[in-house]
Amino acid sequence: LRDEKSLIRKWQGYAQRRLPDAVDTAFGITVNNHTAAKQDGDSDRINFDRKRIQRDDLDDFFKNLKTFVEAENREYLIGPTFVMDEDAQGKDWDNVVILTAAPQGTAQNINGNMFAMVAESESLTLTGHLSDLRMSISPTEMPESMSNEAKAVLTHEMCHSFGLGDEYAKSPPKRFSKMTVAEAAEWPFARFESQASTLDRYSNLQAREDLLNDPTDDDSGIDALKIKWRYHRIQKCAVVSTINVNQNTVTLKLQGNQTAQFAVGNPVFLRKRQRKENVYLLVSSSDATPFLEHTIIHPETIPSRYLGRVKIKSIDTADDLVTITSDGKTDSLKVKLESGKSADLKVRQTVFIETQSTNPVHTIFRTDVNDFTRAVSPQLSVTNVDLTTQTLTLAIPAQETLIDYLQTLDAKEVMIVYVPVELPADQRSANYPYAELIAKPVLSHLQENPYPFNANKQHQEAIRDNATTLIPSQLVPCCSRREKEIIGLYSGGKKYHGDIYHPSAKCMMRHEFVDKKYTELCAVCRYTLVNMIDPTQFAAFDKDYMSRKIYP
Ligand SMILES: [Zn+2]
Ligand SMILES: [Zn+2]
Repeated sequence: LRDEKSLIRKWQGYAQRRLPDAVDTAFGITVNNHTAAKQDGDSDRINFDRKRIQRDDLDDFFKNLKTFVEAENREYLIGPTFVMDEDAQGKDWDNVVILTAAPQGTAQNINGNMFAMVAESESLTLTGHLSDLRMSISPTEMPESMSNEAKAVLTHEMCHSFGLGDEYAKSPPKRFSKMTVAEAAEWPFARFESQASTLDRYSNLQAREDLLNDPTDDDSGIDALKIKWRYHRIQKCAVVSTINVNQNTVTLKLQGNQTAQFAVGNPVFLRKRQRKENVYLLVSSSDATPFLEHTIIHPETIPSRYLGRVKIKSIDTADDLVTITSDGKTDSLKVKLESGKSADLKVRQTVFIETQSTNPVHTIFRTDVNDFTRAVSPQLSVTNVDLTTQTLTLAIPAQETLIDYLQTLDAKEVMIVYVPVELPADQRSANYPYAELIAKPVLSHLQENPYPFNANKQHQEAIRDNATTLIPSQLVPCCSRREKEIIGLYSGGKKYHGDIYHPSAKCMMRHEFVDKKYTELCAVCRYTLVNMIDPTQFAAFDKDYMSRKIYP
């Protein structure tokens, strides 16, 4: 009888489970339920069947996800937090990671990685035939803990959800070192052909095209003053709840009792961390070479059923109109690309429509796709601090204006106000008063020697993937052995060797290991995470940054 009771309790327990009835998602995988044995891009992972991991199917699953609160006997929907819908977008929709003991599909979550494998790949037994594209995975025990390697990969992938891009380049072909420069330039990952603006979503990547002194002249060198990660070092920072601009006066209400740190006379800047805008890209499927990314200039809003995998139904090259059909559905949508950009596409080609989030450290904004300007306010000064109402009053100096979008704050936007770190007196000048993440001596050096620190002596942006740096020794602080971590300018990113730059020779977004040791994120990437997660911690970040002997 006792056994029967416990059995009944077990059954009752099963009845309390609140997993929705989604049978054809990753959660529906059972023994001998086949996964697609298609290789995932350039790696040797085996993907789940698309039907299990596509956003639409997972969103249906998330929409029904509930939690059960026993005391009040109520159910709460927790799904909306994780759903990527155009009208009810969850705040954490791109920060969900599903741990599996099966080889994962990567980048299924557009920005980050939705699936992470916690088991060792050797522990997996696959059966079936690659030829019929169906494989079975023998059931595996979920391990108690993850290996450090799996954790490193997971951290790297999660960082993609916070606006960090890959700082590495694809491994070159075997005979690469023997190729001539001309041959090497023909290699698909040597040249980045997409618009520079498609890198705006990353705080740690910038297109060479953005920086070239003369965009039509490859040998014109770069203008170091245009480097994106000239982010101000910050000593005080708060998040703004409301902003009111009246002529030369700005009134800010701040979140979370952050007002007391500011004082009358403080120089402050305003910047948005997140802007409300829709930017969509048409991206070629992951195994295409070269990889194409085109900005969609019309329509302004794209329904969520067209996000993710779509097929090209027809192309009007004269007007750069591309008609797409959503995956497995019959309705279609016409999107307009920039002039000339539809020429590389093919009818019936599978492509992806992605939403592009804005630069998480929003210091530049585009006046058009090829030109950008600083998106930070002019220097303002604090004229009043009111602790009872948590209000800060700021003055806009005469002859300065606040760009339009810094005068308003939409519900989907986040604005910060901060006091920057001053440069020491011997480095300070009227037009360069504040310290930036890239140290002034490094910036000055790059102005005089306008080439990345991993270019060779002939200034070729060569094209190797080990953590090398030719940073001159006078830029390395005394006794430091961490010169690879100094923020500067390096060639390589988003798998490309040429045409894309990243900040330092060593970063977890570049390699997870160097010399068999785990790498940390570089200062630009760490700054980005602080900015996204808790900007009130900038002072703590800065203290740590200065303690590392990597700031000349
Ligand atoms: Zn990555
Ligand atoms: Zn980095």
